[in-house]
Amino acid sequence: MQDCIFCKIIKREIPAEIVYEDDHILAFKDIQPAAPTHLLFIPKKHIPTFFDLQPEDSHILGELQRAAAKVARDMGLTERGFRLVSNCMKDAGQLVWHIHYHFLAGRTLQWPPG
Ligand code: 5GP
Repeated sequence: MQDCIFCKIIKREIPAEIVYEDDHILAFKDIQPAAPTHLLFIPKKHIPTFFDLQPEDSHILGELQRAAAKVARDMGLTERGFRLVSNCMKDAGQLVWHIHYHFLAGRTLQWPPG
């Protein structure tokens, strides 16, 4: 998608601190961290929201969660853990129209979120 900022990160047209990549997933540091560790996990396929998911996309979200667990394990977070959360549409605060999961870790997180 031409104007999508996350697609531009995938294509290396704008810089990002990439921490994980495979055939279907990219993960990089959020530019405005809300926790000591704040990563974004995205599918390489441009999918604007969960409402746009097709049956053939189902494996991507499973792979995304496994990639998050791998990164967390590599970061030594198996005991303290992490939060994986996604905002869908405007009431949830979605600002970038390319599905992404926020990976938050490194401090005790509040629940419920605001
Ligand atoms: P949303 O509000 O859509 O759930 O989250 C979008 C996230 O993308 C925000 O946390 C924001 O800081 C992050 N973000 C927006 N633009 C960029 C960018 O150009 N680079 C990086 N690394 N993160 C970005």
